[in-house]
Amino acid sequence: MNKLIAIDAGHTLLASGRRTPPLRHGKHKGKQVREAEFNFALSYKLKEELERCGFRTLLVAEDEKSGKKHGKEGTLKRRTDKANRAHADIYISLHYNANRSYWWNGGGIDTFYYKTSKLGKKLAKLVQNEVSSAAKKYKVKNRGVKKCKFYVTKYTDMPAVLVEHGFMDSTNDAYLMLNEHYQRDLAIAEAKAICKYFKVKYVPTPKKCAKKELYRVQVGSYSDKQNAEKLAEELAKKGYTPFITKS
Ligand SMILES: [Zn+2]
Repeated sequence: MNKLIAIDAGHTLLASGRRTPPLRHGKHKGKQVREAEFNFALSYKLKEELERCGFRTLLVAEDEKSGKKHGKEGTLKRRTDKANRAHADIYISLHYNANRSYWWNGGGIDTFYYKTSKLGKKLAKLVQNEVSSAAKKYKVKNRGVKKCKFYVTKYTDMPAVLVEHGFMDSTNDAYLMLNEHYQRDLAIAEAKAICKYFKVKYVPTPKKCAKKELYRVQVGSYSDKQNAEKLAEELAKKGYTPFITKS
């Protein structure tokens, strides 16, 4: 059976704090982007990438998204229980970091694993590698892999990692949260890392076939069908392949 990947889009839309300071420029000027807006958007893209590569996925935070049904802060236990019950093969928790809730010029990506988990560490290294190289062109720094004791890494029966994809109060990273290209590049990077972990070939998005446009050459139009046929014959003699259409 294909490997099952549990994807945890950290936090709910109502979680307290967990948002950027008001953005100072750009398309979303004045908006405070919530962490969950990014986490969920990435979770859907990652699901898509993984399923194309043949994995099964389980979105463990999906029913907590609004923050209305299962509490504003969400419940980590519900998420890890779901993954454990479904016997997921790995668990990946998606986040955006915060430093001090006011703007600073730092930032970067970290991947965390439970301090004693060897496979967690292996997965974390693969993820951090792929993700930070994909993020380079967006000027997001590589902060490396780190040990942790986070709940979702501790109470999952399978190797688990928690990825912080930038800082919500970074003057660079915060502006990338709603950037679809950034999200897509991260999802591809994570899918590639997971493929490497399971030694599966990454399947890239099929390139869309360019719609072919045809240009026709018209020679003449006749109200008498016989005249049209006569011209068609002449053209055929010259080596063309004419056809007659009605309009
Ligand atoms: Zn978070």
